[in-house]
Amino acid sequence: MAKKTNLIAEFPIRKLGVRNFRRWAFNTVKTAITSNSKDIILAPFSSVFYATFACNLNCIYCDHPDVRAKYIKKLDTPKTLSLIEKMYSPGTFLTISGGEPLIRTDLPEILQKCRSVGFRPIFLNTNAYSIDNEIGKGSIKLVDYVSVSLDSMDSSKWDNTLRRPGASERIVSNIEHLIRERKKYGIEVLVNTVITPESIKEVYGVIEFCAKNSVQVNLGPVDVHGMPDSRLRNNEEFRKLMQDLIKMKKERSAPIASSLKYLEQVRDFSLHDCLPSLVTRVLPDGSVAIPCDPLAADRFRKYISGLNSPEDYNPREIFPYNLQDYPDLNSLLKEAYQKEGLPLCVRNTDKCFMPCHLTPTNAVKHPLDFLFSGVLSWA
Ligand code: SF4
Ligand code: SF4
Repeated sequence: MAKKTNLIAEFPIRKLGVRNFRRWAFNTVKTAITSNSKDIILAPFSSVFYATFACNLNCIYCDHPDVRAKYIKKLDTPKTLSLIEKMYSPGTFLTISGGEPLIRTDLPEILQKCRSVGFRPIFLNTNAYSIDNEIGKGSIKLVDYVSVSLDSMDSSKWDNTLRRPGASERIVSNIEHLIRERKKYGIEVLVNTVITPESIKEVYGVIEFCAKNSVQVNLGPVDVHGMPDSRLRNNEEFRKLMQDLIKMKKERSAPIASSLKYLEQVRDFSLHDCLPSLVTRVLPDGSVAIPCDPLAADRFRKYISGLNSPEDYNPREIFPYNLQDYPDLNSLLKEAYQKEGLPLCVRNTDKCFMPCHLTPTNAVKHPLDFLFSGVLSWA
C-alpha cells in the first residue's frame, strides 16, 4: 500500500475535528503571510506511520517489499506503542500505512494505542487482501477511514500488476464487503487508484464502480522513485483522462475526492511551491524521513547501493533522526529543521511529483479549493 499512500492526497474532511481545522487554519495564515516558501516550517497536520514495509503482494511499481523491507525493520510491539505516543500532537491526523499494515499481528493493539492517545481521524491504508481475517476485522473497527487500493476492474490485468494470481478477485470481494458493512464498522471507505501508462483505460471502470457504490476515489499518477513516470508526460491518453476527470468533478457526476486544483496540476505536471513540513513520515524502525519521503528515499537508495551486504546497514548513518532518541516528535522536528533547513528543491518540483506533498501544500495555499472542491462538494 505504500505507493498508494501517496494518495492520502485529498483529505476527506467530514471527519476532521475542531483541532484539525485549527491547525490547518494556523498553517494557512502562516503560509499566506510568509513571502518565501523556503522559510515556512509548519506544524504537521498529518502524520504517517509505516507499520511495516513488508507486504503480501508485490506490485509491479513498488520496491518496498523487495528493498525497503530488507533493511528497515519494524520495532517490537512495546517500542512501537511508545513511538505512537511520541507521535501524537493535538490537531494531527494519522495514517497507518506500509507495506501492508495488516500483516502485523499486533496491528489492533497499535490502533488501540492510536485511539487512546487521541489521534483523530485515523486512516488505515491497506491493499485489502487480508482484511477479512481476524487481524483485519479487529483493525477496521478501530479506524475512521479505510483506504483501499483499486487500479482496475479487469482481474487478469490487475493480477499482472499485483503479481499474485487470483489476488484481484479476492481484493474486490473484500472491498465490496467493506462497502456493504461500512455503517456496522463505523468507517468510511476510500478508494485509491494509481494511474500507470498501461492502466489509463482501466480508470474509467474503477470510477464507475465507485459511483455505483457511493465511494470516494483518489487518483494519482504512478511515480518512479518519487519522480513522474516519463511515459505519462506528453501522453495524450493520460491528458484526456485527466480532462475527463476534471469534467466529472465539475459536473459532480462521479465521486472524485481529488480537488480540481490537484487534477489540473497532475494533468499539466505543473510546478508548485512545496511545503514538505506539513506531513511527517515515521518509518517502521522509528526513523523519520526528513525533510520528505522522496529525498529521504533517494538518500536511502544511494546508501544501500554502496553497501557490500545488508549486514553493513546502519540506519543512523542514513536516517539521523530516530523518534526513539527523542521525547516526542515535535522536539525531533525542531532539531532536524534547525540543523537541516528546508530542501532546496522547493519551487522546483518538476523534479518531484509526489501527490502526497502536492495535496497538503494545496490545502494551505488554496484553502477555498480545499474546502469547496474536496470531498465536501460531493458529500
Ligand atoms: S500493496 Fe504492497 S506491493 Fe503493492 S504498492 Fe502497496 S506496499 Fe507496494
Ligand atoms: S518537492 Fe518533492 S523532493 Fe522537494 S521537498 Fe517537496 S516532496 Fe520533497
